[in-house]
Amino acid sequence: MEKRTEIGEVGEFGLINHIAAKFTQKQEWTDLGIGDDTAVLDPKGNKVVTTTELFIEGVHFDLGYTPLQHLGFKVVSVVLSDIAAMNAIPAQITIGLGLSNRFSVESVDALYEGIRLACEEYKVDLVGGDTTSSPQGLIISMTATGVVEADKLVQRGTAKPNDVLCVTGDLGAALMGLHSLEREKQVFLSNPDMKPELEGKSYVVLRQLKPMARFDMIHEFRDLGVVPTSMIDCSDGLASEIIHLCNASGLGARIFEKNIPIDDETYLAATEFNVSPLTAALNGGEDYELVFTVSQEDFPKIEKIADVTAIGYMTNIGNERVMVMKSDAIVDLTAPGFGKQ
Ligand code: ADP
Ligand code: MG
Repeated sequence: MEKRTEIGEVGEFGLINHIAAKFTQKQEWTDLGIGDDTAVLDPKGNKVVTTTELFIEGVHFDLGYTPLQHLGFKVVSVVLSDIAAMNAIPAQITIGLGLSNRFSVESVDALYEGIRLACEEYKVDLVGGDTTSSPQGLIISMTATGVVEADKLVQRGTAKPNDVLCVTGDLGAALMGLHSLEREKQVFLSNPDMKPELEGKSYVVLRQLKPMARFDMIHEFRDLGVVPTSMIDCSDGLASEIIHLCNASGLGARIFEKNIPIDDETYLAATEFNVSPLTAALNGGEDYELVFTVSQEDFPKIEKIADVTAIGYMTNIGNERVMVMKSDAIVDLTAPGFGKQ
């Protein structure tokens, strides 16, 4: 039997001290971290960006196939992806935790091990949080702050007509990872002796369980001296994000099916699960790539980044959001559920 320490044995303060002891400070503008009534930050004249994401067991994650350590890493990636989308550099996180009595000190440790690994990966400080009991399941609220020079801040609504519309990485993989994990869960529930069939799915499963916020791209932009004209991260699917950029900028967009980057493993998995790879890319979500626009003038520099693909351009036709198919047919970009959230 694995060791199980009840949270009641160490107490709330004992648990917080136990958590805090494992983290080291990385950002010089974190003046004060865990321990007082609040953290103290000193952004030294820069703009501070901040945002929160809420994750509820059974709604946003399933502990049936998500190891707690992966979940810890993922919740940090998800909130930091929004910081990346502002072209900012991440710096601090705070966490609100609701724990039911199903969770032991060891399970909290596993969650925080993933959070700690993410803090190392992204060079951010865990500077505070709150811990409380939950009647059922696990609740995680994750807040992040980042910093950006005023002239490098990038919003959604500042694209210009004829700007080149680009995406990083490839799309649709996270949804295929989710389908793979859901299928294995069903197989396991009906026959616990069955071996998981995840061969040939390592990339898509990793994209679902361990997404990365694309700060490698943010650093590339800085190295190249380019500031995108608008940007958003791809959490709900490419179509939805493009519609957000268009709405916020008061512009149209035209993209080309043949340019949408989709990994081979995503294609194969999509065939297996009877979904269209294009739909996975357009409406899948959870890929956490960046969707951004750059001026025609800056595009030759951006084009040199291996992991960036130009997929189309912005137009001054305010209500146009279209995709030119390989067949030359033109279809409207639609995002299921758009406007409902
Ligand atoms: P208060 O009673 O003032 O809310 P707490 O006892 O909740 O103080 O928190 C004490 C310190 O520990 C604070 O710095 C708080 O931000 C931090 N903290 C509380 N819970 C967590 C957690 N789950 N993870 C990280 N830091 C936490
Ligand atoms: Mg508190």
